[in-house]
Amino acid sequence: MPADSSFSRRGFVGGLATALGYLTLKPDGELLAHGASDALRIPLPPPGPVEDYDLAAKLGNNENPYGPPDSVMKAMTQAFKYSNRYGYPDGDIVEEIAKHHGVKAENVLLGAGSGEILTVVGRTYLGVGKKVVGVEPTYGSVYQHATGIKADAIKLPLLADFRQDIPAMIRATRMHYREIGFVYLCNPNNPTGRIVTKGEVRQLLDGIPEDMPVLVDEAYHHYVTDPEYATSLPYVIEGRQVIIARTFSKISGLAGMRLGYAVAPKEMIQQMRPHSGGSINAIVKWGGVAALRDTASQEAVKKVAIEQRTKAAAELTALGYAVVPSEGNFFMVHIRRPVVPVIEEFKKKGVIVGRPFPPMTEHLRVSIGTPDEMKRFSVAFREIFAAAPKTAGGAGSR
Ligand code: PLP
Repeated sequence: MPADSSFSRRGFVGGLATALGYLTLKPDGELLAHGASDALRIPLPPPGPVEDYDLAAKLGNNENPYGPPDSVMKAMTQAFKYSNRYGYPDGDIVEEIAKHHGVKAENVLLGAGSGEILTVVGRTYLGVGKKVVGVEPTYGSVYQHATGIKADAIKLPLLADFRQDIPAMIRATRMHYREIGFVYLCNPNNPTGRIVTKGEVRQLLDGIPEDMPVLVDEAYHHYVTDPEYATSLPYVIEGRQVIIARTFSKISGLAGMRLGYAVAPKEMIQQMRPHSGGSINAIVKWGGVAALRDTASQEAVKKVAIEQRTKAAAELTALGYAVVPSEGNFFMVHIRRPVVPVIEEFKKKGVIVGRPFPPMTEHLRVSIGTPDEMKRFSVAFREIFAAAPKTAGGAGSR
């Protein structure tokens, strides 16, 4: 640090402090002003968007409410020293991911979140007039991107029990084979939380032309307990045209840090690489390496998420509201009235819930938060729905 930098910093703070008096934040939410009058208390301005966000129960984006574990925080903190560098040791994040999955580094492509991977797949395999095949609702950013680049989507309805209709996906892909750029399979699906079984994944891959790329989005892989589910990674190792998208945003609690990746056959990674931005920061690369190793923390996050999901689903079912069986860190409840005003009602009570997912316009998606946040959801739900009649609806019914 240059010898005079402390002076210049003091000068900067000093200017501000002279203008305002010397301010410290009191725990009771007031700014205590020292200086001209020691006793002068300045009330804080009314809460703005930042305070509202911080205080809200955040059940809208399927995040890990606990944030990164200590092991990851430590790794990221140590990596801060690379903030000013372009070329720096990156913890061998690509090799670590490859090792984790039993593939080679040439099979891995990093993304600024798996959202970037979904976009890169779109840029690579779609173009004007091309189409992606998938269900609706699902994680719609694939479709939004397709529209943005003047490609299109064939969106198939879910089955009555909200599972994905694999035979319909096969039919649509075969029927429009020449126009289809890739098939999108979100497993477990967001927003429903329902899985595609390992048998169904095989049925899909065996039922469509073998050169058709299939993007399997496994963002919620780590939360699944159903033995009928399996990762589709072995298909990559087999050399099938399969791209797996994974993220550090969910179980690893790094959504704000932006890290995800694709695992795919070498040729597909080569096709995709020119379309990726390569803008992953030094800090999250080290965080990602630590996160891959900290399986104990992931188990703990999974355990409490499932406990909270089970508890919330049981409560809502007891109140007469059908809950879609979920394998993710979120669930949908059939509220039997339009969801848009209900989302606003929750917001007024300081509870942020999921956005609408047409055509499921009477279902509310709730992410699993901390036990305290879930309690706040439960209280708000009872208040908002207090007037509604209690009638039974079978679990998973529309
Ligand atoms: N895929 C699915 C299914 C998601 O739900 C999300 C985020 O909610 C993403 C991908 C993108 O996540 P990220 O870009 O943070 O990795």
